[in-house]
Amino acid sequence: MTSESIAVVGGGPAGAMAAAQLALAGRRVVLIDEKLAWEKPCGGGLTPKALQQYSFLAEAEVERNWVRGCELVSPGGRRAWFELEQPIAIFSRRVLNGLMLDRAQEAGAEIVRERVLAIGGEPGDWRMRTRQAEIGATYLVLAAGTRNPFRFSAPLAPADLMATAGYYIPGSGDSIHISFLRGVEGYIWLFPRRDHFSAGICGKLNATPTHQLRRMLEEFLARRHFNLQQATFYSHVLPAPRAATLRQLTLQGDGWALVGDAAGLVDPITGEGLYYALRSADLLAQALIAGDASRYSHSVRREIMPELETAARYADRFYRGNFLGGAVLDRMVQFTAASRRVRYLMRDVFSGAQGYVGLRRKAYRTFVSALPEVLLRWENSKPVLAE
Ligand SMILES: Cc1cc2nc3c(=O)[nH]c(=O)nc-3n(C[C@H](O)[C@H](O)[C@H](O)COP(=O)(O)OP(=O)(O)OC[C@H]3O[C@@H](n4cnc5c(N)ncnc54)[C@H](O)[C@@H]3O)c2cc1C
Repeated sequence: MTSESIAVVGGGPAGAMAAAQLALAGRRVVLIDEKLAWEKPCGGGLTPKALQQYSFLAEAEVERNWVRGCELVSPGGRRAWFELEQPIAIFSRRVLNGLMLDRAQEAGAEIVRERVLAIGGEPGDWRMRTRQAEIGATYLVLAAGTRNPFRFSAPLAPADLMATAGYYIPGSGDSIHISFLRGVEGYIWLFPRRDHFSAGICGKLNATPTHQLRRMLEEFLARRHFNLQQATFYSHVLPAPRAATLRQLTLQGDGWALVGDAAGLVDPITGEGLYYALRSADLLAQALIAGDASRYSHSVRREIMPELETAARYADRFYRGNFLGGAVLDRMVQFTAASRRVRYLMRDVFSGAQGYVGLRRKAYRTFVSALPEVLLRWENSKPVLAE
């Protein structure tokens, strides 16, 4: 590489997006990933908001499942079902990463399959050491995910991380399922892909041990008669930053920047990280193309942080709070089942059309106006199943 070049370490959605946008603008880019298109532990759900903003993901002729139906089960066993206006796309990560990496390569980025063992040098002269070679670059984009050893920022504390455990299980379906659990700041999900389910569970790393989460998931799957003999187990960590952590996140320094999970940019309530990986990488590329790298932090603070910080402030109340004499989660599912207005709100929240900013006031108004319907059905909306 000559002196004017950008190295992207990590070729997940964030790294591949940064590489593609920069290469499309004529920048010299080398992307280094140890696995390239692989089945990274994930649900693989991409919201309509992400698909609208990055329409190539909706238009690409690749395998994925389009799903509109959502089933919610509360910790107390209440159920609700609603349909999204626009479908969620559920990708296998091997397919999604492959699509993104092909796009980067077609744009002109050089793709190298290597593990980066060490990053040395200095701004303007970075040296990425792999087993085969040393790759030099003037600017460094670190997109190596949550569990990367490169210390460009302080590692997230256990209280800022979620543990996850899951199975890929042969089969498919046409709706997503989410079960909230008593005593767990997280949930079980069942996402149907084209030929298998991604079934998983997440919970705060410092609260519920992963083996306990795994057992809860296995009990849930057994109750639904899933056969795990052909299934593949996975486990990973996921950023779930608290509001104070978000305010202090380091996003960039002299000659380098962090994007996606490596920067800690994940919704701390839902664990949605794909949109923020794509968006942060896009914002960084825009800043570099404009010749003003420092614009990146400002863009993230203006566009992404208000959403994530609001989510982080709601997270505790969402998972552990009470409303009208019951758990918020039970009431949320009960109101969703009883009222069309609440279902419309849930639909907008799930699709990404309604962000967290402004949600509190809107939810309050919607819930109050739905109260007569909910009271009418109070007797009929008793829990049907203890989950
Ligand atoms: C179980 C689970 C379920 C999830 N479900 C969803 C979901 O349904 N929807 C959603 O929006 N988000 C979901 N997420 C979050 C989502 O997976 C992440 O936010 C997203 O993958 C972040 O993308 P990224 O490119 O930043 O990082 P990653 O996808 O983690 O990519 C990092 C890349 O860096 C490479 N790498 C790491 N170290 C090195 C090295 N030393 N040398 C070379 N390469 C290296 C890796 O091989 C990897 O390809 C889920 C996460 C988990 C754990």
